[in-house]
Amino acid sequence: MSDRLAVLMLHRFATCPQHTKGHSPTDLRSVLALLRASGVRLLSLDEAIAEYLHGDRSGAAGGPAVCFTVDDGYRDFMDAGLPTFEAFDCPVTCFIVPDVIDGKTWFWWDRLDFMLRRLPADQLALNVQGERFEVRRSTNEYSWQRPAVSMLKGRTEAFRADFLAELEARANVAIPSDVPEEYRVMTWDAIRECETRGVRFGAHSLSHPVLSQVSSTSAEQEILGSVQRLKTELRNPSSVFCYPYGLASDFGSREVEILRAGGVTHAVSAMPGLIGPSAEKGAELGELPWRIPRFAFDGRPAMALRQLLIA
Ligand SMILES: [Zn+2]
Repeated sequence: MSDRLAVLMLHRFATCPQHTKGHSPTDLRSVLALLRASGVRLLSLDEAIAEYLHGDRSGAAGGPAVCFTVDDGYRDFMDAGLPTFEAFDCPVTCFIVPDVIDGKTWFWWDRLDFMLRRLPADQLALNVQGERFEVRRSTNEYSWQRPAVSMLKGRTEAFRADFLAELEARANVAIPSDVPEEYRVMTWDAIRECETRGVRFGAHSLSHPVLSQVSSTSAEQEILGSVQRLKTELRNPSSVFCYPYGLASDFGSREVEILRAGGVTHAVSAMPGLIGPSAEKGAELGELPWRIPRFAFDGRPAMALRQLLIA
């Protein structure tokens, strides 16, 4: 058996079969059952980092390990994801966004989704900052929403705001200021309740910007402000930070330096990769502790993952 760790990244959970955005509890259960049956260890992120990154193996078993993380703090995690993790006694770390929890905003990709499902016509032409776009009414997130999200993610915050404003005006559908039920995140009280059930929570910035697109001052506020907020609100927040979006173009050495200077010792990305075989205790790791890789979890049976870990 190999001695490697895969950190998995999830987002949403299906609260009913019609909910197409998330992992179904049934699929998650079959994955967890397979991992357990295969002898793969299910570790908390903090345990996994200590063992597989720093070689801190005081009495630990070694072997292949998997660690589950859930980003963005949607309410469906508590309703449809957590009971399944609990049934398998599987630790989970969730990364949350204080400005969204506080209701100051809701995620722009959800506002886009809201609009695209309510277009008055199958297609609509938009003109945003001199560029023309054809948007199509989406019946599910796989129709037009995903390419639109990738396109908008690469643009500036100002462009995204203009795009949504133009969409709102042309579609003649107002984006509500209160987040609709299907896009709701957990409240602080719900998060504290999850804490009592063993979930760890880590900071995922204040408002979920692409950190590499914002000024140094904003990047510092977004990162350290969110870390501080979790310390104020929660009993035992995770010491691990999670970069919004988390790909190579979304953060860099500037963000690593902000974390390091602020005393935050670890951060996870969304760049795929395995960790290990475990480092010697005290080994020189460079920036790896602030660039911990994660695999996007696609919910398919865990065979591929199992092969990856046991090969
Ligand atoms: Zn996120």
